[in-house]
Amino acid sequence: MKIRVDRELCKGAGSCVVLAPQVFQMDDADKAVVIDVHGHDDDTIWRAAESCPFDAIILEDEETGEWLYP
Ligand code: SF4
Repeated sequence: MKIRVDRELCKGAGSCVVLAPQVFQMDDADKAVVIDVHGHDDDTIWRAAESCPFDAIILEDEETGEWLYP
């Protein structure tokens, strides 16, 4: 799965970091960054993406490029 954070949409709410700390971390600008796409299983990554109140986490199929979420 491909994981991206839209830096325009991210407001630093931090729930993604709480739910999936091996995948997301806050940077110096208080925006989430992806540190390891394989840091958690897909279910955990989905929960983290769904927890984002700004829909800033974008999930795509790694092979087909299909847009999965949001
Ligand atoms: S939950 Fe959304 S807004 Fe909050 S840090 Fe993560 S990506 Fe940014």
